[in-house]
Amino acid sequence: MLPYTDARQKVIEIAESLGRTPHREVIEIEHAFGRILAQPVFADRDYPPFNRSTRDGFAVRAVDTSAPGARLECIGELRAGGVFEGVVGPGQCVEIMTGAGVPSGADSVAMIEHTRREGRTITLDREVKRGDHIVPHGSEAIAGTPLVAARSRIGYAEMALAAQAGATRLEVFTTPRVAILSTGDEVVDARATPGPLQVRNSNGISLEVLARTAGAQPVQLGNAPDDKNPLRKSIERGLEAEILVLSGGVSMGKYDLVEQVLADLGAEFHFTGVAIRPGRPAVFATCRDKLVFGLPGNPVSTMVTFELFVLPAIDLLSGALPRPLPIFRARLATPACEKGPMVHFLPARIEWEGREARVSQLPWQGSGDIVALALANGFLVVGPERPEIAVGEWVDVLPRRGAI
Ligand code: AMP
Ligand code: MG
Repeated sequence: MLPYTDARQKVIEIAESLGRTPHREVIEIEHAFGRILAQPVFADRDYPPFNRSTRDGFAVRAVDTSAPGARLECIGELRAGGVFEGVVGPGQCVEIMTGAGVPSGADSVAMIEHTRREGRTITLDREVKRGDHIVPHGSEAIAGTPLVAARSRIGYAEMALAAQAGATRLEVFTTPRVAILSTGDEVVDARATPGPLQVRNSNGISLEVLARTAGAQPVQLGNAPDDKNPLRKSIERGLEAEILVLSGGVSMGKYDLVEQVLADLGAEFHFTGVAIRPGRPAVFATCRDKLVFGLPGNPVSTMVTFELFVLPAIDLLSGALPRPLPIFRARLATPACEKGPMVHFLPARIEWEGREARVSQLPWQGSGDIVALALANGFLVVGPERPEIAVGEWVDVLPRRGAI
């Protein structure tokens, strides 16, 4: 069966092969968080635009400070934003504040903490090196060069940088629509009162928020019964979006009809199973030039397979590069024993002891157990090559997006 890394790669290949460049729109910077930049942000001037002092102190000539207890004459003051018309000559200095431009003649700044003042005489208690406490003009960026590249995801740092450069209107890609359709005769709306053998639709909400926080625009299609005709109608509506994500109806049961209906609609299947647990029956297809994911309906399977397979597709159709899976290593705090050919994604608690991450698997009842998942902040990832792992060994963990 297909390893999950190959399945992910398949999604990336197919999404890229569609060759779709998303549309562009111009938005105000305040609304840009999480969006993908379509046009680079350029430096409108050199950064810093002047030799900037990074300390409160005295702008000096380093050569004047080499003698122990050097004394200098203070000839003026410079506040941030202020101008000093003169030139700092031999034996002179200018009082300077953080953020002010270093006056001509000076080549370094002595921190106020390392000086004593008596009237106009400043005594330095240590030598200053040329360039100390100055960020030179143009050292961060040169006017006209890109500060933030196209295809970057806009986070708070990119927003601050754009604001610094006066780029308050940003050209970004439009967000892809992700249609969300749950399936199952037993599934009722989350606001309804279920009968004794019915379940509320939890995948509808988890998929909606997973899609939105991934940078897509969710289109909620509710639930379809396990019945070919209405299922087909709902799927056809879903194919109006760039991506259709279904939950349920992809296992081996007599009423698991999603694949049949997709096949009737002419879908091309790229995989219909992945070597992971939970999530083994996950399906990925293209249908009418749209990407379709048939995720297993058990709620934890739905969420895990979304993160593994749908997220990179959303990234690519958003104009971004696919985000890597942020797997890292932690020390196992409870013994793990998972046999079989699958890679397991087990709800787990990741905690830090000093700088070392430790992971404990949480007790759970399998892929329907959202109680366990909500207590977890990540997954312990164990593959078939290590059926038994002892406490203290290094293992792979995947944080639950938004929980750490
Ligand atoms: P399926 O993948 O359709 O075989 O469903 C597997 C399990 O997930 C069953 O126990 C379903 O009742 C449950 N399930 C399917 N869809 C949903 C949903 N939208 N919300 C909550 N549970 C679901
Ligand atoms: Mg079902």
